[in-house]
Amino acid sequence: MQIDMKPELQIDTNYYKVENIRQLTEHTFVVSLPKSRFKFSAGQHISLSIQGDYQSREYSIYSAEEDDNLEVLVKEVDGGYFSPKLKNLKEGDVVEVHGPFGKFVLDEKKRDSHQHIFIASGTGIAPFHSMVKTFEGLNYKVIHGVRYANEAYEIDHYDRDRFTVCASRDEKGDFKGRLTEYLKTADFEKNTCFYLCGNSDMIFDAMEILKDKGFDRESVTVEVYF
Ligand SMILES: Cc1cc2nc3c(=O)[nH]c(=O)nc-3n(C[C@H](O)[C@H](O)[C@H](O)COP(=O)(O)OP(=O)(O)OC[C@H]3O[C@@H](n4cnc5c(N)ncnc54)[C@H](O)[C@@H]3O)c2cc1C
Repeated sequence: MQIDMKPELQIDTNYYKVENIRQLTEHTFVVSLPKSRFKFSAGQHISLSIQGDYQSREYSIYSAEEDDNLEVLVKEVDGGYFSPKLKNLKEGDVVEVHGPFGKFVLDEKKRDSHQHIFIASGTGIAPFHSMVKTFEGLNYKVIHGVRYANEAYEIDHYDRDRFTVCASRDEKGDFKGRLTEYLKTADFEKNTCFYLCGNSDMIFDAMEILKDKGFDRESVTVEVYF
């Protein structure tokens, strides 16, 4: 899909002072930066590094296009290099932001005419949080695959009737089991765009299920985290 980048979306490099770290669960948190003049399209990601550290990692933008803050949702990966360092950031620490990058954005031509099914595993919910907050009135449904229902991060930010939590390890979700099991049982309208984000195993399995349901590759857009 070809995206016309508006001039103000051109790549830029910037330093930001951390405004706040919002802890959502023991291992997951939101890094909040002042937005300043940063422009992006909902669904895009940034590359983040910490001042004084040579490493960087990519993170989907969690906040909405017009929010006052630029936010990312991060899961601390056990044994990971970068995500534990992000967790230890304090207010006023300096990070470097590159971007925005990526074409994982809504198709403007289909935005008002189609249903949008957002399929996420874990922190793969981040770009959908941005899209739902940015486009009020969007016809969407979220299917979120997590291990425990408390990993349905900030679920009150969505229309609860449009959000299905598939929790594989506790009974507190809307569906007990993997999101791919739920997907097999679900029916979708013909005019549906699917957006898939998260780990590659989930994405490949979900794509096969959608193919079996008769949806062609054209109707599916993916963002692979790892
Ligand atoms: C386009 C893009 C957008 C991304 N957006 C996000 C985001 O919004 N939030 C986020 O938390 N991560 C996101 N990631 C993953 C992120 O870039 C890092 O890979 C992650 O934070 C781990 O970095 P690390 O240095 O701690 O781990 P490393 O030392 O680099 O170890 C990497 C290993 O950690 C595992 N891993 C990577 N990401 C995750 C994850 N989210 N959950 C569980 N295990 C993981 C994988 O097994 C991988 O092999 C994104 C990746 C891409 C490519």
